[in-house]
Amino acid sequence: VVIDPGHGGPDSGAVGIGGIKETDVVLDISLQVTELLRNKGVKVHLTRSTETDLDLPPRVAMANRLRANAFISIHANASTNTRKDVNGIETFYFSGSRGFNLASDIQEQLLNVSPTSPNRGVRRGRFFVIRRTNMPAALVETGFLTGRIDSSKLASASHRRKLSFAIAKGILNYLKRDN
Ligand code: ZN
Repeated sequence: VVIDPGHGGPDSGAVGIGGIKETDVVLDISLQVTELLRNKGVKVHLTRSTETDLDLPPRVAMANRLRANAFISIHANASTNTRKDVNGIETFYFSGSRGFNLASDIQEQLLNVSPTSPNRGVRRGRFFVIRRTNMPAALVETGFLTGRIDSSKLASASHRRKLSFAIAKGILNYLKRDN
């Protein structure tokens, strides 16, 4: 499994209420997901494990070279015009029933630990990292850093822990189902 923390380094990604940065949130969650999966015996590679700049093509190249069974890119959202009333969790896949299953398994678990976040659903998306990877791939948006409901949750270490458990469980459910 390849875990891809979005953005990094000078590319902070979304910046939310109180200055919270997407890159910090998603790196923390990604490192926890990786540890949780490794504890379950899953072989995991991270596209980045530090606050470093990384373009999209090398992330895809790594997953394709490793012939990963699944690729999961982890992000947090921002709304245009930083609308505080826009909140919720969504997971994207590009194509195929296996990509849909991977995204669905993760989305289901995230909603379980974030019942007050609106369900924005499992959706098709054309993001580079899920479009160009050769294996089932999902891009997870863990909530809106600009949203009144989501931002305080994403800023909380204990909630990020819950999100990490949820993503890891979703991936494990997918791997069990798929193999
Ligand atoms: Zn992002």
